[in-house]
Amino acid sequence: MRILLVNPPRFNSIPVIREERCEVTERYSVLPPYSLLQIAAMARAEGHEVELIDANGFNIGYPELEKEISDKNYDVMIFRFTPTTFDHDMRTAVISKSLKSNALVVGICLTLHSLAKEVLESAPALDIYIGRDYETIIPQLIKNTSCLERVEGIAYRSSRGITVNGAVKKLADYDSLPIPAYDLLPSFKPYFINTPTGTRFSIVYTSKGCPFRCIYCTVAGTRLKMRSAESVAGEVRILREKYDIRVISFFDETFTLSRERTLRLCRLIKPLGVKWYCNTRANLVDRELLETMYGAGCRGISFGVESGSQRILDAVSKGVSVGEQAEAIRLAKAVGIKVFCSFIFGLPGETRESIDETIGFVKRSLPTSAQFNVAVPYPGTELYKLAREKGCIENEDWRALYQDSSVMSVGELSPGDLDNARRQAYRALYFNPRWILQNILHVARHTDDFTLAARYVVKIINNYFFHRMVHAH
Ligand code: SF4
Repeated sequence: MRILLVNPPRFNSIPVIREERCEVTERYSVLPPYSLLQIAAMARAEGHEVELIDANGFNIGYPELEKEISDKNYDVMIFRFTPTTFDHDMRTAVISKSLKSNALVVGICLTLHSLAKEVLESAPALDIYIGRDYETIIPQLIKNTSCLERVEGIAYRSSRGITVNGAVKKLADYDSLPIPAYDLLPSFKPYFINTPTGTRFSIVYTSKGCPFRCIYCTVAGTRLKMRSAESVAGEVRILREKYDIRVISFFDETFTLSRERTLRLCRLIKPLGVKWYCNTRANLVDRELLETMYGAGCRGISFGVESGSQRILDAVSKGVSVGEQAEAIRLAKAVGIKVFCSFIFGLPGETRESIDETIGFVKRSLPTSAQFNVAVPYPGTELYKLAREKGCIENEDWRALYQDSSVMSVGELSPGDLDNARRQAYRALYFNPRWILQNILHVARHTDDFTLAARYVVKIINNYFFHRMVHAH
């Protein structure tokens, strides 16, 4: 079978991240299409022919993409899409249907997993929709394209209408997946995260799923699939030695869930000399772990702090205290790791006072950088159910689910108030003399961060003054 994988074009020239829980427009990052590369490797392992077009990465627009697709011969096209870029991304499906009407068109989007039927109803050119667990579904799908009723975890269109099959069995062994087919990328030149630094970069997943139950999160309570340290180190070695990758962002939801595995991975990747970044929770780090991570190349950690109000953290089942978050930020900075924190305004119970508490927390803890989002009622989350029950969602269209523009009121706070809180928080950080001094001192101590810091300043100026924190974090 011949399979064509497509990462659709940028959205109004703005890069799009189409990766599992992170399906957003983001003007300051261009990521390699990791999950498509993983699918490519799985398909090749079964003997299929695979081609890939990363239109987002290489800034290929629709006219050029259409021409490229018309030159290809394939039986199945697989692409990823996001809620807010839904109609834009679906042009990929429309082009395929008009040029190769017999080829199956398969779309993947995690965020809309609870709305499988609605997705197909809204996208006539889409034959098959996959929400969660593409790693398990794709191999089954490729084997059963003529008997889709056998493929668990998909929704599909047939002469009988739309059918949503039962849930798929979870992946038993994450290590069993092949290394993504990085060779399909013409180069790594377009890719960067946060700001281009000219250093070769990739993302890597070492685990997926998260057992925590934060009510706003699209992966809350999903089964954890974790690769062994050896498997991850093997992939990092290939990236370093074959593709000269110098910076990796481990894209897991919660990288340090297993302290033991993290320590082992640190031992294995330290000799490779790669700088790396990860996301985790504040209550899953300690000084010894952070020191070991720094020694193994970790240069940045992203904590989802969400709020500086304990009342809000409890209301969203964050399972961590304000004090633990402050301590984790302090410790990470103390060992030399840059700290990126994300905050959410508009979670249940948010008031003017709790917004002030959050901004106060930011001023006290001074993360190296931060992103301030508004709460988004993603379908399928507890937050969505709560907000619907209370009638707080002002726009239910998934195309409006941006993290930079609220669709939801909370108590006496309107969506506009929450958008303002976001801007106020950015001002409180970006114009804080202590924060500026702290980051200057960091660069003085870690001079290899000079180029990154200089480019970051440009990013901040652009973000605040020109882009107004829209399509950006
Ligand atoms: S810890 Fe992070 S990934 Fe896990 S449920 Fe909470 S927000 Fe989601």
